[in-house]
Amino acid sequence: MAARFAASIAALFLLTASALAATPVDQSQCSAMKAHHVLNAGAPVACERLAAVRFSYVDFEGRTHDDGIVVVLDAVAPYVDHIFAKLYERRFPIAKALPMEAFEGDDAQSMAADNSSGFNHRVVQGSERLSLHAYGVAIDLNPVENPYLTRDGTAVTVAPPQGAGYLNRRNDRPNKPARAGLAESIVHVFADNGFLVWGGDWDDPIDYQHFDIGRPLAERLAALPPGQAAVVFASAVRAYRDCIARNSDAMSAERRQICVAAPRN
Ligand SMILES: [Zn+2]
Repeated sequence: MAARFAASIAALFLLTASALAATPVDQSQCSAMKAHHVLNAGAPVACERLAAVRFSYVDFEGRTHDDGIVVVLDAVAPYVDHIFAKLYERRFPIAKALPMEAFEGDDAQSMAADNSSGFNHRVVQGSERLSLHAYGVAIDLNPVENPYLTRDGTAVTVAPPQGAGYLNRRNDRPNKPARAGLAESIVHVFADNGFLVWGGDWDDPIDYQHFDIGRPLAERLAALPPGQAAVVFASAVRAYRDCIARNSDAMSAERRQICVAAPRN
């Protein structure tokens, strides 16, 4: 009984910590998002559905910063908070994390600055399809270390251009120092918090910096009232975690493969 009581206090504390770290986008940030082309007319979610997740992170020089911010959909915010808490705990370096207002909503500028980000009302580069960043359910992490590769015939374009130094994804090369900040090492942290889709698994484009929750779930969450969206996302996360627990014999990379592919109701 005492243990159960302690557990529920701990759960309450976690809930409180998350609630503090993820706050609804306020009026002044909302105005800034509109003024700086991050949120435009016709966006699938309005400011009322967006939350700013604030977090601490360690940069590539090992310095701690307390000013990391990503803007995401309300339903996923507690899980995004958890992702960045895990990355901090593991001292996974992050170059910077500023809301897209700082870059006038321009993804190329944000990538060139090695900025990690969430919400941005934009289309998928080179198409007219709405990006899942426009739903607040996609996160780009360290774009320089994790570039975005597109193909045109045999020509490959690397974005941002500085990302060309990270086309070789191996990290255990003789006589070369290990490189930090590569997405490969934390793909399971994102998956464990409902971000099952990783652009590094794709063939064309290959988007090493990109994580999202999948388009059908994104559209469903945006259409639901916030309370119901939170319940639906929590149950999707639970289904993945249950699958991981059921497959405890498999190697960890193999478990992610099994459970990301597992059908969900
Ligand atoms: Zn992305």
